[in-house]
Amino acid sequence: MRIKTKNPTYLAVRRVILGVAGLAVVLAVLFAGRDNSSLLEEEKESLPEIATTAVPENFAVPGELDWEYPPGWIDYSDLPALETLGDEEQPGLSNWRYLLVNGLDRSNYLRESYYPDMTYVEGGYSFQTRAVEDLKAFLAAARAEGYTVSISRTYMSYSDQRVRFNGMASTIYDQGELTLAEAETKVTNMGYFPGADEHQTGLAVNFVDENGDAKFATPVLTWMREHCAEYGFILRYPEGREAYTGREAEPGHFRYVGDVAAEYIMRKGITLEEFKLAYSQEAQEVKAW
Ligand SMILES: [Zn+2]
Repeated sequence: MRIKTKNPTYLAVRRVILGVAGLAVVLAVLFAGRDNSSLLEEEKESLPEIATTAVPENFAVPGELDWEYPPGWIDYSDLPALETLGDEEQPGLSNWRYLLVNGLDRSNYLRESYYPDMTYVEGGYSFQTRAVEDLKAFLAAARAEGYTVSISRTYMSYSDQRVRFNGMASTIYDQGELTLAEAETKVTNMGYFPGADEHQTGLAVNFVDENGDAKFATPVLTWMREHCAEYGFILRYPEGREAYTGREAEPGHFRYVGDVAAEYIMRKGITLEEFKLAYSQEAQEVKAW
């Protein structure tokens, strides 16, 4: 247990000591060739006060997320209090705003029977009713700035996902290198198993610019990324965080999570997966160091 103090000299000295100790531990572990679990234990002791948000180099590839690993690498000391999450009806992390859907874990798949309540937006697209006004405000704000932005996808049903899954698997199978079962496994590992697509929540939206483009470089998507949190949205698949989402970066895909989570997630440059994980016991221990 460390003694709490606000003396800056003490803190500076402690930082130096921790830094040197940390380096020594890393070198010792490197030379001793010890396994990852002991590395993690010892690095916990030497983590700097502001931890880096970088994904470790040896981190899992998409589809093979090690849920025990990431929290220690991010500074969660300013994580929003649980009481500020959700609403009166559904307080906390179990609120509909934070519904996590990804292809990493079957507990994060939606069932075939999951149909959100939807309201029409424009261009043949609807959005989950509870968040539709925020989406309209987000679009209106971009257009008021002079950007031409359109929706290219919102809701995707389970059965449409199954059609896409079968299509992707047979395309790979037709290349002649894999059996159909292997092709299906490959598509599953890419995060495209039916029920694993966040678009089924009705809270996800893909935007394109006037050319139908969805690339980071376009001014429209840059503006959307910089302002999404003001309307309760996050960039759901940021570049460099594929290990956490299990999906390739998708610059045009935004997800509604409400203003509290959106502000935090975008400011930290993290993902919905990391945000939810930050409330886990392990992350709370990291916070308390
Ligand atoms: Zn999308």
